[in-house]
Amino acid sequence: MIGHDSVSPFVAGLGGKCPRCGEGALFETFLGLRPSCGVCGLDYSAADAGDGPAVFVIFFVGFVAVAAAFTLRFSWLAPLWLTLLVSVGLTIGLTLLLLRPFKATLIALQYRHKAAEGRLKE
Ligand SMILES: [Zn+2]
Repeated sequence: MIGHDSVSPFVAGLGGKCPRCGEGALFETFLGLRPSCGVCGLDYSAADAGDGPAVFVIFFVGFVAVAAAFTLRFSWLAPLWLTLLVSVGLTIGLTLLLLRPFKATLIALQYRHKAAEGRLKE
C-alpha cells in the first residue's frame, strides 16, 4: 500500500525516493530528476530545490575540510602535500556523497510543506 503524505521527507530524501509514495525513484541521473514518479505518478516538474542543497553542502563540507586541514597541519604537523590531499579529497568525496540526499530531502520538504512561489490573490 502506498502511504500518501505519510512518508517522512528525511527518509524519502536519504533514499532518493518520491516524496509522496516513498517508493518511486526521484532521480534519473546523478542530480537530474525524472519527469514523474513511476509508482504513484507524482509530477516532479514543480520540484525545485534551487541553490539550497549546494549551500548546505558548502557550509558543512567547507567546515569539515578546513578543520581537517588545520588539524593535520598545525596539530599533527603533517606535510603540506598530505594536508592538501586529505582536504581536497574530503571536499570532493563529501560533496559527491551529500549533494544528492540533500537535494532529495529539500524537494521532499518542499512537497510536504507545499512550498511554491508566491502568488497575488485575485
Ligand atoms: Zn511516488
